[in-house]
Amino acid sequence: MRASSPLLHPPSSTAAALVGGATPASPVPRITTNARILSSLATLFVPLQAQDASGAYCPGTGAPPMTVQQLEAAIFEEVSPNQVTVGSTYNRCTQGQLRLTRGNSRVVDPVVLPCNGTVPRTNAYWNVSSCPFAHFMAWADEADRIMVQERKIDLAAHPFRVYLTPTGSCDFIGLGFLGCDYKSGCRVWIGSGSWHVQQALVHELGHNLFMHHAGSYTDSGLFDEYSDNSCAMGYCCENRCFNTPHMWQQGWLSAAEFDRRNLGRGQTITLTLAAQGTPSDGRYRAVRVVPSWVPAFANGSAAVDPLFIGYRTGLGVDASLYDTMKNHVLLYTSPVKTARDPQYTTRRAALKGKTVWNYDAADLVVRTQALTRDAAQISICRQAPGRQETAASCAKGLDYNCDGRVGPADPQCLPFMNLNTPLNPPLKTPLKPPRRKARRRGRSLERKPNPGH
Ligand SMILES: [Zn+2]
Repeated sequence: MRASSPLLHPPSSTAAALVGGATPASPVPRITTNARILSSLATLFVPLQAQDASGAYCPGTGAPPMTVQQLEAAIFEEVSPNQVTVGSTYNRCTQGQLRLTRGNSRVVDPVVLPCNGTVPRTNAYWNVSSCPFAHFMAWADEADRIMVQERKIDLAAHPFRVYLTPTGSCDFIGLGFLGCDYKSGCRVWIGSGSWHVQQALVHELGHNLFMHHAGSYTDSGLFDEYSDNSCAMGYCCENRCFNTPHMWQQGWLSAAEFDRRNLGRGQTITLTLAAQGTPSDGRYRAVRVVPSWVPAFANGSAAVDPLFIGYRTGLGVDASLYDTMKNHVLLYTSPVKTARDPQYTTRRAALKGKTVWNYDAADLVVRTQALTRDAAQISICRQAPGRQETAASCAKGLDYNCDGRVGPADPQCLPFMNLNTPLNPPLKTPLKPPRRKARRRGRSLERKPNPGH
């Protein structure tokens, strides 16, 4: 994508021109796109059931809650084109960039586990009546062995495997490895009460893709890692796409990026942010601001997380977003840097109408202006230390306090302006003042600009 866009507008230079100050250069974003690792989410869905040698279900377990056909209807868009499925969520939320289809994935016939066993190399005991990590890992190992040795299934063709745990065995909704090698070690387990919850499968597969939870702060100030209901990696279990930082992490969205190199003190970016679900047509659909001007910790780690900004409407895949998110500019913070960097994301605010939001730790002020059906007009201003205008900032048309006004339009600048203002009231002079007297007063005003106001 090109490095600049006609949709990026420079800050208003009108006020600066009035006082003859220099017009600050328009911040120009870099476009950052993480390299996508995968285009195919090739998954085996493995329903498990546990029976003894007589064919009776093992103690504490029972018949599977769904048939293979019912699972296929919940998973594949091709089978259920008119409902949200695991496949349609990945296919549509990523705009086809990561696909889960009948062409690359399948539901295998139920795999029958014995009631207990031992792990071959370690001889560790496991059973199907209790659900610690070592046991459900052993179920997956045993299922893999059965699929390879008895069914001749090529596991390498399906690096992602979702084990649907036996009825009655596990009471969790789902679990998944947080990141995997994308070869053979990508595992998800779904509790038997959630086989039908497609969003649970989407969420756990998302963990395999190195996505951590999407949270937010509660009213009491505590971080709840699940409470971002704008993202499949947070809220469960309604139909959700992924939030802006996760979309950027995966390389599914490019971001206009700013840091100290292209966003100076007092500079303001004004740009049009297209809705996340709209086609990629060169417009920005995400912004990432890395506050590299904030000093890092002594160990070199960043003291303040980058800010991500996106716009979500109720269009298409976002139809089920809550009204508190729909047609809102959504702001997040996250330290995530690369596609394989599992980090929490934090939803900070949802803005609608003309609103101002301060990210104090990063010296940033975000304003929303017009929000339309498919795009939002926003501005981002970087405050200077002290957050006060100076003679220099006023002369240059910069906005050190980020109040949205520069030069003579900003009351804080008036003491620095050589203009007739209430702070520097009009001189009571005749229409044709004596030249010497006028010049003397003029010089006096310039030397003593009354900076205390
Ligand atoms: Zn999770």
